[in-house]
Amino acid sequence: MEPNSPDAPPARVPVEDGFFTIPDRAGEAPRLLGSRCRACGEVFFPRRIVCAKCLVQNTEDAILGPRGKLWTYTYTHVPMFGALRADVGGYGVGQVDLPEGPRVQAVLAGGPGDFRIGMEMELDLETLRVDKQGREVVIFRFRPVEGGAR
Ligand SMILES: [Zn+2]
Repeated sequence: MEPNSPDAPPARVPVEDGFFTIPDRAGEAPRLLGSRCRACGEVFFPRRIVCAKCLVQNTEDAILGPRGKLWTYTYTHVPMFGALRADVGGYGVGQVDLPEGPRVQAVLAGGPGDFRIGMEMELDLETLRVDKQGREVVIFRFRPVEGGAR
């Protein structure tokens, strides 16, 4: 499919640069952009220049995810600020432990009964709004791998 053909999916842009990737193909999970300390190996999200563990200024970029385990969560029964689908009425927020080390706080996809601590989660994207160029402005979120909540 040509990028500018009428059948092409709308272009997607991150709500803020430098935090996650946007995959080209449907069904492919986004990844988080973190840092790994070259001195001690500690991994961070979001990216940082100075290691918070050994204080050496020697980090490299690290691609993280797309899966992790739900450490804890809550559910807020008000619409997400600035969201396209303000009628949905609520959203989950959780902390997900990545196998690389960082614990990442993010919006969760699904209803209040869809989550349990320790479950496997996978990154995906949620469209917040459409900008003036017709591009979807997206955030990253986690959704349960089991149960099929979308
Ligand atoms: Zn370090």
